[in-house]
Amino acid sequence: MIDWLSRIERLTRPVDDRTRAALQRRWDELPAHVKTPAQTLGRAGVGCEGTHGVFPRCNFACRPCYHSRDANHVRVDGAHTLAEVDRQIGYLSTVRAPHAHAQLIGGEVSLLDPDDHAAALLVMRRHGREPMSFTHGDFDYDYLRRLAIGPDGRRRFRRLSFAAHIDTTMVGRRGIRRADREQQLDGERRRFVEMFRRLRREHGVRFYLAHNMTVTPDNVDQIPELIGASRHFGFSMFSFQPAAYVGDERRWDRDYRTLEADRVWRKIEAGVGSALPYDVLQFGDVRCNRAAFGFYLGERWHSLLDPGDPADLQLRDSFFEWFGGMHFNAPRALLAVRLVRAVARHPRSVPMGLAWLRRTMRRVGGAWVLLRHRIVPTAFVMHRFMHADDVSRAWELLERGETSADPAVRETQERLKACAYAMAHPGTRRVVPACVQHSILDPAENVQLRRVLPLISRRPAERDAPGPAA
Ligand code: SF4
Repeated sequence: MIDWLSRIERLTRPVDDRTRAALQRRWDELPAHVKTPAQTLGRAGVGCEGTHGVFPRCNFACRPCYHSRDANHVRVDGAHTLAEVDRQIGYLSTVRAPHAHAQLIGGEVSLLDPDDHAAALLVMRRHGREPMSFTHGDFDYDYLRRLAIGPDGRRRFRRLSFAAHIDTTMVGRRGIRRADREQQLDGERRRFVEMFRRLRREHGVRFYLAHNMTVTPDNVDQIPELIGASRHFGFSMFSFQPAAYVGDERRWDRDYRTLEADRVWRKIEAGVGSALPYDVLQFGDVRCNRAAFGFYLGERWHSLLDPGDPADLQLRDSFFEWFGGMHFNAPRALLAVRLVRAVARHPRSVPMGLAWLRRTMRRVGGAWVLLRHRIVPTAFVMHRFMHADDVSRAWELLERGETSADPAVRETQERLKACAYAMAHPGTRRVVPACVQHSILDPAENVQLRRVLPLISRRPAERDAPGPAA
């Protein structure tokens, strides 16, 4: 009986002891310059994770493309995918935190058989990960249905998360092979979300969708138009990645160094029609990541927290202290018990939360605005991958325990040390920044995978891969 009670007590603790320890480790590892009050790493979570080398191939020919030149010569193989996802994510769950967000990424996920895709997501869930599939979005409803619903007709998931990369840097979409203007792709964006709405209608599977755009000198000025047209399509996040010199060098054809962070962020703000405060919540180094969380009420976007209001900042700090590390994707009943325990331990959280609600209502224009409009949570994010050459120089020194005297290299080193996006190498017992994976490790990995998984046959559902043509 005592054993049973102590098991229940441990299970319903607001924050798992292993998570607490993982957060402390992450915080201790962070460089001093990112240990700001807004820093989420080490306080709310350990950061995002992703897979690599699990299905390297893609059937598009984007410019730029972050996959190395051999990726398209590696066969998509379900058994390999499942074994690698299990190894990589299993390793992350043991050396990082028991729960985290993780991307199923590393090629085009929809080239996987739907059953293999579903199995990979379930493996990630088994390891405590909240998986998100990263895709170009050029698949049909039938694929989505077969992913969500098993051959026995039963629902495999209550909720699916996808990040869809849809922009004019891409070549190969069936509906529009090449687009000159972002606007020409609005139909594809809408079509993508509609598939998920239909899945929810017909099978009750909820969804979280992110829209990804690679930003180049050619399309940066079209960001406002893109946001304006697609903000109400059903995406919960708009993520922008300024292009970097990484991946297949045959597909680099513009001067990506002109894409300064402020320039891109201003374009995003112009699309939203509002300032986007990215200093309220920080994910690693702001030179890597900027994020603004908020919601639309009608045509207006509002930030969740007002950076100019000390009471909102106090709420953030208290949230980190009292609820940081809580697993909000836990089963609802379990989450409810954990929340009750956390609130009982910190009763001030109730009046603070209510006061924030009152302030926010005032800020958005009063209760009548809430009656007229639905709240649509929408986040805007910018993730700036680094150039492969810069990463190579910085990483080589980091591996030797040296800090560069060159300010540019030192900046890269600082960013790598504060990385918010990790990938695992269980064989060498290492976790590396995604920038290191793509800049340094991917090419050799894909050369090796090409030998292990050579292209042997063309599956009927697969369209022509672009192959090595640049
Ligand atoms: S180091 Fe690279 S992968 Fe990590 S957060 Fe920065 S840009 Fe992203």
